[in-house]
Amino acid sequence: MEVLTDEEKIEIERRYNEIFDYCPHCRDDESRKLVRKAFEIANEAHKGMRRKSGEPYIFHPLAVAMICAEEIGLGTKSMICSLLHDVVEDTDFSLESIEKIFGAKITQIIDGLTKISEIFDENSSLQAESFRKMLLTLSEDVRVILIKLADRLHNMRTLDSMPEHKQLKVAAETLFLYAPLAHRLGLYAIKTELEDLSFKYKEPVVYKEIYKKLKDSEEEREVYIDIFCEPIKRKLNELNIRYSIKERAKSIYSIWTKMQAKNVPFEEVYDIFAVRIVFESFQELPEKNQCWYVYAIITDYYQPNPSRLRDWVSTPKANGYEALHTTVMGPQGKWVEVQIRSNRMDEIAERGYAAHWKYKEAGSDESQLEQWIKNLREVLENPNSNAIEFLDNFKMNLFSLEIYVFTPKGLLKRLPQGATALDFAFDIHSEIGYRSIGAKINHRLEPLSYVLKSGDQIEILTSEKQKPKKEWLEFVVTANAKAKLHDAFKNERRESIKKGQHMIEEKFNEYKLLPNPELFHKLFATYDVATKDEFYAKIGNEVISLEDFEQVIKTKRKNKIATYWDITFTKTTSLFGMSKNKKEDTEKLKQDVIEKDTSQSKKKKSLILSESVDTPDYTLSKCCNPIPGDKVMGFIESNSLIHIHKTTCPIAIKLMSNYGDRILSAKWTVHKVQSFLARIKINGIDRIGIVNDFTKVISEELNVNMRSVYFDSLNGVFEGNIDLYIHNASDLLHLMEKLKKIKGVNSVARVENIE
Ligand code: MN
Repeated sequence: MEVLTDEEKIEIERRYNEIFDYCPHCRDDESRKLVRKAFEIANEAHKGMRRKSGEPYIFHPLAVAMICAEEIGLGTKSMICSLLHDVVEDTDFSLESIEKIFGAKITQIIDGLTKISEIFDENSSLQAESFRKMLLTLSEDVRVILIKLADRLHNMRTLDSMPEHKQLKVAAETLFLYAPLAHRLGLYAIKTELEDLSFKYKEPVVYKEIYKKLKDSEEEREVYIDIFCEPIKRKLNELNIRYSIKERAKSIYSIWTKMQAKNVPFEEVYDIFAVRIVFESFQELPEKNQCWYVYAIITDYYQPNPSRLRDWVSTPKANGYEALHTTVMGPQGKWVEVQIRSNRMDEIAERGYAAHWKYKEAGSDESQLEQWIKNLREVLENPNSNAIEFLDNFKMNLFSLEIYVFTPKGLLKRLPQGATALDFAFDIHSEIGYRSIGAKINHRLEPLSYVLKSGDQIEILTSEKQKPKKEWLEFVVTANAKAKLHDAFKNERRESIKKGQHMIEEKFNEYKLLPNPELFHKLFATYDVATKDEFYAKIGNEVISLEDFEQVIKTKRKNKIATYWDITFTKTTSLFGMSKNKKEDTEKLKQDVIEKDTSQSKKKKSLILSESVDTPDYTLSKCCNPIPGDKVMGFIESNSLIHIHKTTCPIAIKLMSNYGDRILSAKWTVHKVQSFLARIKINGIDRIGIVNDFTKVISEELNVNMRSVYFDSLNGVFEGNIDLYIHNASDLLHLMEKLKKIKGVNSVARVENIE
């Protein structure tokens, strides 16, 4: 066991004592004693351990505690938990002993921290799911997340000593998950640092380049800002207002994203100067008035750009940010962005909610964080919510700017940019969402898909007869509305199951058949369904047509069903590590692959799935609706069922990048009898008889059956959908080519999602 040098011992003690300089909450005797105790336990437990950099391990928990104190402003409990955060995970020290010494609350937080690192540090690629779990712990105690962020920040600051491939993984994860989270919690400074550090490892060359350019232009910028600020400073001094003015340094990452988004060089992004004026509350006026007072002083000297005024004072952002932003014309005709904040607002902006707690007056702040956590929980607790989809929504709601709209009675609602009238309806109440038929926006009638703008006043029109529509999913953007709609469709599915069951029972009666397992097996195999529910639902929704029912039941299972179509799978090399369970799943699958392999080439580990009627192994996914002939892949769902996607399906692409270990390559082999539902979309110039031409062409095709046709014509242009039962992709392609040749047709395309 390595021993600490005397110098190191002194340094450890010095760093420990420094915490108290920044943590005013833990200076009383009782707190000091507890923090000391935690420090001693950690020091003892990590004894002899060193970080990759060679430093004594205890430097890390000390640094995390320091970040929590200095940069987030947390108190005694958080100091204790920071010091102990790696103890349970990395040493023999148990949670029980912590509980005995520090009590239940601290134990709960440390337990949360340990669990998070367990999910995260398994080299797994399941970030989205873990992230969801992590957010769930938010509701237990937000300190778990704050300390985890501090932990991550210190690891990022010391990332240099990690091997390169680890650096990239950690950097990507930080940029993808932790930085947005810090942003959402209002920890602006931490968010910025996390982004810059991640960027430094992900794009070292670009990072260095921007860094250098920033350095080179520093002096020039300072001179300009000095000239700009001179008259403002003079006036503020005259009025005896205490303030500080800083040039607002743009982060390297934000400069780069701007360069990317606008496709402009560094110089153009950096041509916008920004200063921040932080004043101390100076009189018996509300802070809001004081902000406008400072605004008035600035605009006495410089002309403001009215379109660039942002008032986050009257209406703070969802993450608690308050400030007044304006852009004015400075000397030499250059735009300068000015941010005006009180020192309280400034602290909230830099430190987020921790600062909120500090300033919280009784009853004045119906904490928005709590509201946010509440919303989050609602979505997370829905057992069917998909982690990746959730994360997408989370990120979208996060990055998009917010808009503010009003109810007819003038109540303010906050929604993400891009939200539609229907999102608003769901925000009011799910029942209003379900029954919406239209909206009056500023007294004008608009469709539900109307994209709201800040300041809109919205009245939702409802009807008792209205039912939720699948198309609505195409234009709602809030996680809440999406979740509510999915719920509703689940209920609808229950109804189609009932309907489908009724329909098939009638068929059985018609052919005097007694339902038995043998019969169901045959039907399942033919119609490519896994369960009775799926079977009934597809019949109820007319995805399965019972037209060829007679042919199916007369088919002898042995020689026909087994040949109608096959799909073969090969396991791709695992790209990522797997959790234990996943590993087992995959092992089992590999075993299956070998056992069921009926082909000659066992080496290829291919699997003919259509024969395994008893244990349904796969299902065609509804998002992209693959048909034989399409390029496809298999994805092992959590219930170990394999979903087949087209390789071009956006959902499949997302799955591939997130769960590399659950991908199977798949190939169609033979296909002869079964029909698949496909939809094509046609548009063109309308003329009399055109629909007739379509149906004629389709009916000439022997391998195609039409299920439904829908056409709409407006101002001489038509658009329509045709649903068809077809056997494979090449038949479909052939038909589409024929349809394209019809006079007036502009485009013919296959519709992926026909749910
Ligand atoms: Mn740690």
